[in-house]
Amino acid sequence: MTPVDLPSNNHAPRPPGARVDTLVLHHTAQPLDISLELLRFGAVSAHYVVDTNGDIYRLVDEARVAWHAGLSWWRTVRGLNTTSIGIEIVNLDGNRHPYSEAQRAAVTGLSREIVARHPAIAPRNVVGHADIAPRRKDDPGSLFFWRDLAAAGVGLWSEVAAASELPDAQIVQDLLRRFGYPPPHRYGLRDGRFVYLDAAGEAGATDIVTVSLADIVIAFQRHYRPDRVDGVADAQTVARLRDLLRQAGDADG
Ligand SMILES: [Zn+2]
Repeated sequence: MTPVDLPSNNHAPRPPGARVDTLVLHHTAQPLDISLELLRFGAVSAHYVVDTNGDIYRLVDEARVAWHAGLSWWRTVRGLNTTSIGIEIVNLDGNRHPYSEAQRAAVTGLSREIVARHPAIAPRNVVGHADIAPRRKDDPGSLFFWRDLAAAGVGLWSEVAAASELPDAQIVQDLLRRFGYPPPHRYGLRDGRFVYLDAAGEAGATDIVTVSLADIVIAFQRHYRPDRVDGVADAQTVARLRDLLRQAGDADG
């Protein structure tokens, strides 16, 4: 499906040496018209918007940075905008409302084209906004079609049978971090922007939020174990995480 060009005002050049290695999927939480207004003329943007009927709009050229990820963290990289492509999918809440057939087909086709154009996008780097901003974000939600997308060659999936293992919290945290998730952390607002508070401390920051291991397990479950999104790293959750690490080539997974 050929995208319709609706340029956004909000974009920047990729920094020298930056290459696209991550694909970030979002739900808009707004209807199409409001989403396009915000993403074209507000303070944010995305490369693509996919409507409920499968229509695709291109707002920002893939060669340029769009402002969709915000404060974000994946595989030790912070601030994913400069190295990612963002797709906003029209859905008021992907944790409550299923994605339409037309939308699933359009997002799948578009994502396949994007990963073909950018071979540095490793399968584990096909992420939801919630994966890279746990607790702060919950999109594209537990009803997103990650399994079907992986079957089409975009991203990973696991349905490995549960082992009996119930590792302690530190091991779960280490496994999640090795796959790409941030460790537990704090963030807050400073000068109107979200910042991580680990190095700079809390001076001058407001609206401080603590992101716990349970919050990060919830992000993992929304993506890889959507039938149980409760922040408890049970045997099935851990078995899938270990299997995903193996699929990603992490030998000790
Ligand atoms: Zn988002």
